[in-house]
This record gives sequence, structure tokens and C-alpha cells, in this order.
Amino acid sequence: MSENMMNKAQKQMAERNEKIAENMEDVDHKIVVMSGKGGVGKSTVAANLATELASEGYDVGLMDCDMHGPSIPKIVGIDYDRRLTGTDSTIDPVTTEVGLKVISLGPLLPERDSPVVWRGPLKMRTIQQFLGDVEWGDLDYLIFDLPPGTGDEPLSIAQLVPDPSGSVIVTTPQDVALQTIRRSVNFAEEVDLPVLGIIENMSGFVCPHCGKTTELFGVGGGEKTAEAMNIPFLGRIPFDADVVKSADAGESYLKKYPDSGVTQAYNEIAEKVMREAQTAGSGVQSTPKGGASQEKAKDGIRKIAIPVAEGKLTAHFGHAAQFVLMHLRDGEVKDKELLTPPPHEPGVLPKWLGEMGVDVIIAGGMGQKALSLFEQNGIHVCTGAPSLPPEELVNRFLSGTLEAGENVCDH
Ligand code: ADP
Repeated sequence: MSENMMNKAQKQMAERNEKIAENMEDVDHKIVVMSGKGGVGKSTVAANLATELASEGYDVGLMDCDMHGPSIPKIVGIDYDRRLTGTDSTIDPVTTEVGLKVISLGPLLPERDSPVVWRGPLKMRTIQQFLGDVEWGDLDYLIFDLPPGTGDEPLSIAQLVPDPSGSVIVTTPQDVALQTIRRSVNFAEEVDLPVLGIIENMSGFVCPHCGKTTELFGVGGGEKTAEAMNIPFLGRIPFDADVVKSADAGESYLKKYPDSGVTQAYNEIAEKVMREAQTAGSGVQSTPKGGASQEKAKDGIRKIAIPVAEGKLTAHFGHAAQFVLMHLRDGEVKDKELLTPPPHEPGVLPKWLGEMGVDVIIAGGMGQKALSLFEQNGIHVCTGAPSLPPEELVNRFLSGTLEAGENVCDH
């Protein structure tokens, strides 16, 4: 290549990078969804995670970087025959019913299910266009569905994502061997992607007749591996045949089955991913739409737990015979549950409350060790609260008037 041509190529590359940086400027958190191999449900997880975040009121985009057989349009339920629109230099994303902005090769292919046999450079060019030319606008989260595996192609694509908040690794119970996950972690390290955590998909089979869960391949492997590798475990999603049926029919599973175990799992996983992304990434606190900023932050809180005795907060956290669990939606109490904790043992309560997806605990007194265990699990604890009925405490907490005693609650 002559010097002139090289200068021209360098200039073009610099211009392209500048365009990408400009277009990505208003995206708070970029989350890359990856897997050690194909078929583990990576695209399904990326699509449903993005849909869940968008349904919660966040501004979310989903970029399908898996070009071999783009499955995203079907999973999020957008019309495959819909053509992309735009101008000479911009592309409009397709917006789903819940406001999720999606870009995929799907609508660009001549026919549904056409195989894509492109050379590598052309794929990279397409991804650069998705990053630089798509009208993403202001986004709280942009989710990337990477091609499967840890080879050159996903690596080159991951390298194109500017300032990623981190990666989410999807595995199945058959695939949780330390070595497989280690490969994914090494991959993430190579491209400077913090690992936000591991999701175990198709974990346990929910019987469509009786609703009972059967563990087909053992359970908890992903969690143990995550623990051994010091990586957050983001949760497990059960196997549910309706996930496949919905994708085949081009319908959004989450919309069709709002009360299923799978939907519940996505709900909890989305909360954890948000927490991890905010800690690992730019530190920007993304908040759902509507309301003043303080109220918005509270909209993100889904479950508040309070240790109770005789209908009021008990100061003896570790020995509380019961907990009230308040379910919130959009900053308002929607439901209340009275729960009996497992027998008292060190570390049991943080695990139990963490697994239930609790975001906040309102307590009287609590030891430093328990406090730090909760904070490590991303659960915020307000200590020194007065002995009042749980409804009153939650109302005060939500209106910002909860007066804490000894340890001031700084939420
Ligand atoms: P990948 O992107 O890892 O190749 P896909 O997302 O395409 O995987 O999923 C592979 C297959 O598994 C699809 O048929 C999908 O519908 C199915 N699948 C994904 N998650 C689940 C689940 N939790 N339960 C049942 N089937 C699932």
C-alpha cells in the first residue's frame, strides 16, 4: 500500500472511531453478553435481559452481533419482514412494544433464516455501522449479543465496543466446569471487560403440568464455580419449553408469561446486573423514567426486608423469628409477605435474603460482619430504625423521612 493510501485509510479509521465515540457518548452502560460455546441460550438471555430492563422503564438498546443466524428479532417479538429505515448516514433501530431499541442483521437479510456467509472484515464493518450509524439516542443500557465462544470473531467484535461496563457470561448446568468459565473470564480480561457475573441458564426443568422443578443436570454448579473464581453469581433461569415455543412463534416470552418462574428469574437477574454494571462501569446511576431524581432511585428498589416480632420491627436481626418482605413496583408497595427464615447460622441470612432478590433491609441493630456481607451482596442496610410496624417504616423510607438511630441510614 502506498503512503498516500495508508494515510487515507488511517484517516478513514480515525473518522469512523470518532463517529462511534460520538454516537456512544450518551450510552451510560454497555453490557456484553457472551458464552463459552453456542446453544447455551446467550441470545435468549441477552434479548430477555434487555426486554426486562426496558419494561422497568429504562432506555435500553440491544445490538445483535451474532451474525451467523440472527435470532434476536424473533426472541424480542419484532416482525422479521420489517425493513430497516434511515437516511444515507443513519439507521433507525426497530423499537419493540416495551420501547426496546433493537438492531440486528435479521431485517437486512433477503430471506428469513438465510445463512450469513460473510468474510470477517465485512462483519466488523457492519458492527462499526451498528455502533456509529444507528440512532441510539440517550440510553441507560446497551446490551450486546456477542457471537458464541471465545474465538477470534467474538474477540474482535468485543474490542470494538468502546468503554464497556462489563460482560455477563451465560452457561448451562452441563457447562459450568471451571475450565469453560475460566476461558470466558480470560477472554474478558484480554479485552479489558470486567466480568459482571455468571448466569446459569436452563437450570432445572419446570414441569408444564404440575409446575414442579426437576434438576436434570444437578444444580448450583454455576454458583460454586462463580464463588471459586470470585465472580458474582447473577442467578439461574429454569428450563421452560415455552421459551422455545415463544421464540419459534416470534412472540416475546416475558410479555406472554409475566408470572412464570423464568420471568421471575429475569426480574431478579436484571436487578443484579444493574447493580454490578453501576459498580463496575462509569459509576453512573441509571434510573427509570418519570419522577424526581430521588424518587427515581427508589423506583429501582423491588424488595425491602424487615425483621419482625409481634407485628413490629425487632432489634434482634440475627434471631428474628420472621421477616416481612415488601414488594415494590415503581416506588410503591404492591405486595407484602411474612416469611420464616432458615435456622440461625452465620452467613445464612445474607444468602437467604440475597437469593430472594432483596435490595434493602431496614433493621434495628446489626453486627459489622453481617453488615459487610450484605453490602458485598449489593443489599443496602439501614440500621438503627425504630421499632414500628413494617408498613410505616417502608413509607418513611420511601418518603425519605426514616429517622435512623445509632447508625444513620445514608441511602
Ligand atoms: P445461543 O445464543 O447461546 O446459541 P440461543 O439463545 O439461540 O443460544 O438458545 C438456544 C436454544 O435454547 C433456543 O432454541 C432457545 O429458545 C432455547 N432456550 C434458551 N433458554 C432457554 C430456557 N431457559 N428454557 C428452554 N429453552 C431455552
